[in-house]
Amino acid sequence: MVTDHYTTEKEYKKFTEYVFKWAAKLVPGYEVRLSFTTEDEDARADVEIDELAKTVYVGFGRKWSNKPTNAELERTAFHEICHILLAELVTFTNKFYNEEFTDAIEHRIIITLETLTFGQNKRINNT
Ligand SMILES: [Zn+2]
Repeated sequence: MVTDHYTTEKEYKKFTEYVFKWAAKLVPGYEVRLSFTTEDEDARADVEIDELAKTVYVGFGRKWSNKPTNAELERTAFHEICHILLAELVTFTNKFYNEEFTDAIEHRIIITLETLTFGQNKRINNT
């Protein structure tokens, strides 16, 4: 049985640490801002990118399907930062292909990077 877990301030702080850790490594030119909310309330996390301002807004979901471990928090932070890393390519590619297609390819790349970095994921992660 799946029960929802309402994320805590402590989990949000840990997630924030991981976001800054991976942003410094993968997208050092961006200013990163965090919020304890997501546009889609069922998302574990999300990201919005302002290319012109070189600013990104990373949201941490209030509701997860499970209580996240630190490993899951880091993997989710890494996932969102990878979206920033690939953002320019995705914007360009969306001019020629439909968004569903580019999103599928983008996620295939991100999942590969996740697996290389953290090992195989036991859960499906589609944030
Ligand atoms: Zn994603």
